[in-house]
Amino acid sequence: MSEPLNVLMVEDSETDAMLVIHELRRGGFNPIWQRVQTAQELHTALNSSTWDAIISDYRLPGFNAFMALKIAKQSQKDIPFILVSGTIGEVSAVEMMKAGAHDYVMKDNLNRLPVAVRRELRDAQVRAERKQAQNLLQTLASNIPGMIYSFVYHLNGSFDFEYISLGCLDLLELTPDEVLENASLCFAQIHIDDRAGFGVAAKQSAQTLSPFFYEWRLATPSGKLKWVQASARSECRENGDIVWHGVLLDVSDRKQAQELIIHNALHDPLTDLPNRTLLVERLELAINRAKRVDTYLYAVLFLDLDRFKVINDSLGHLAGDQLLKTIAQKLKTHLREVDLVARIGGDEFVILLEDISGIEKAIQITERIMTDFQTALILNDSEVVISTSIGIVLGTKDYSHASDLLRDADIAMYRAKAQDRNSYKIFDIEMHTQAVNRLTLETDIRKALEREEFVIYYQPIVDILGDAYGGQSQGVSRESGRESQMQAVRLIGFEALVRWQHPTRGFILPGEFIPIAEETGLIVQIDRWMFYTACQQLATWKTKFTNDLPLKISINLSAQDIRQARLLEDIDQTLAKTGLEGDFLAIEITESMLIENISKTIDLLTQLKARKIQITIDDFGSGYSSLNYLHRLPADNLKIDRSFVNQMQEGNRNYQVVSTIIALSNQLGLVVIAEGIETSQQLQWLQQLGCKFGQGYLFSEPLSHETAEALVASKTVYLSSDEYGEQMS
Ligand code: C2E
Ligand code: CA
Ligand code: CA
Repeated sequence: MSEPLNVLMVEDSETDAMLVIHELRRGGFNPIWQRVQTAQELHTALNSSTWDAIISDYRLPGFNAFMALKIAKQSQKDIPFILVSGTIGEVSAVEMMKAGAHDYVMKDNLNRLPVAVRRELRDAQVRAERKQAQNLLQTLASNIPGMIYSFVYHLNGSFDFEYISLGCLDLLELTPDEVLENASLCFAQIHIDDRAGFGVAAKQSAQTLSPFFYEWRLATPSGKLKWVQASARSECRENGDIVWHGVLLDVSDRKQAQELIIHNALHDPLTDLPNRTLLVERLELAINRAKRVDTYLYAVLFLDLDRFKVINDSLGHLAGDQLLKTIAQKLKTHLREVDLVARIGGDEFVILLEDISGIEKAIQITERIMTDFQTALILNDSEVVISTSIGIVLGTKDYSHASDLLRDADIAMYRAKAQDRNSYKIFDIEMHTQAVNRLTLETDIRKALEREEFVIYYQPIVDILGDAYGGQSQGVSRESGRESQMQAVRLIGFEALVRWQHPTRGFILPGEFIPIAEETGLIVQIDRWMFYTACQQLATWKTKFTNDLPLKISINLSAQDIRQARLLEDIDQTLAKTGLEGDFLAIEITESMLIENISKTIDLLTQLKARKIQITIDDFGSGYSSLNYLHRLPADNLKIDRSFVNQMQEGNRNYQVVSTIIALSNQLGLVVIAEGIETSQQLQWLQQLGCKFGQGYLFSEPLSHETAEALVASKTVYLSSDEYGEQMS
């Protein structure tokens, strides 16, 4: 089977043409052919059919192979062009080949022609396929996001791109030609901070011939900053050149999303300040640096806003949020770039002062912040003055953990707050010891509640006017035999006072644990227990002695208790369980507790009164001495603080105060109880001033329930008439 071949002949001689055809047939072809002799004919033939090969004579009348070749090239059809001639020399033949002819066969050697044609057909096909593949690659490359490239690093240290796709226009804002001509244009765009990393990654890939993978920032000619990612396969050529084939992608969007995620993980959403995680990272850097660099000092400031909750509750959460944002901004203005302010809790901020000269610097900044805070802020059209308590820790080599720094700064802040709002304290080791003690105490209190280590002591409250003033109290019992030395006063009730029978520390008075119990909220459980147990005790006494025993028990409540929504419910339950009526009870609350939320407290007190429970205002005069709102309070009794009683001297200021309180109370119908009466002189004055009830060591210390019971049985408390009378216990 012979091979079909469309052959176009540029030949003036019919005979020569037939010779060629003959030769092709002999070589296994089945040629279909056309012969042309002029440029015009050649044009027409090229345009009207497809040709597998052009076989051209060298010289024709008015035409020649050079011209024919030129026309063939212009047609862009890449048809094999074979010269057949007997007349040209070597030189011309070479010229022709240079101009793009594919082969040259001598007329006297025509039997070589089929071989030449066959080879050229094959080559043309290879060329066609390659071209197709290249076109495909171009199409692909221009449709892929990013840029495809082959980059060569030559053994002699020079480098260039062998291939670069059109993507470079978009990505690098350079044309492929510009890049091919000068590869360093690309490298000039690498962000200055990423160059070292890029170099390391490239070197590593070159040395180990491992894939190159790297992300970096580009600064493009138009001034854009882009994140790009390169991934390329590397290979080493025989000549030692290293080539990377790969793609470069614009990953700015992904990077931005990632950065946002990272940012969000490290910042507080409300103020956009660093959060605790970021703070801890930075503290750890500071800790490590302090260990390495002798001269490096830093400080940590722990800020807690005073009374933020009140502002939040009264002005609303939106205003509260706004306030926190404003404060975040304010704090920043006092810091340098290197410092850091973080928000680590509702109203808690922590500042890290980097590289300071000493504690004075930290104090200076603290004082500046505090002064700045004195300027009122406008929130919701109202002026708000906010103050803050600040704890300061000087970072030294001794710190190894961020948590320790924060703990100590926190301790110091608490100290500042406890001492005086709007103040600061510098942490010292003594504070730490105390804090540890407090912490143990807190856990111990919890255990004490479980193990029922609390007990109640009962301090008698007595009627000090009694018969002597023709008082309303009947049945004052005086044992006639002892009248000369001992006076007897009628017992009207007890104040229930908590004691802690600690398994190792022994008997602990409330002063040592009540403040912590209040801070931790444990006081609520303690007082609930006290209330129940005291009621139970009184109920027992009532059944044991007479059912109309005229004794009251007075129980202390703290601020935490009256904030509890279920206080009344608890009280009702206790009354129901013990079968006690409210009128055998009094509740003692202090003035400061009243003031905190006066309308709400009045509400609560009214509810208590509805249950016939009496209200006693405790420690009166010690705090706000607000005689002016006394009449608004639904109170029954008023306890004059023992500091006044203690320091009374005839006619002195305390004496005057006590006198006024008693007079005013009597007018308002409040019963006055003087506490802390230690001497008969004090008693005498109080009696003169018309104080009805008294309580104090002169009559009795707080008593265990057994001792108290003995007293209940006798209904009377005896006291000595000596200055420092013997006390009953
Ligand atoms: P307070 O309510 O003012 O209780 C009176 C305190 O004065 C008691 O101290 C009592 O022992 C003491 N005292 C009584 N007579 C005299 C005296 O003649 N001279 C002197 N110098 N002191 C006298 P205590 O029992 O140590 O209680 C201290 C405070 O602890 C109480 O002060 C009260 O505020 C609080 N407290 C005690 N028990 C409870 C409780 O069950 N719940 C709550 N929330 N607080 C309690
Ligand atoms: Ca009290
Ligand atoms: Ca008191």
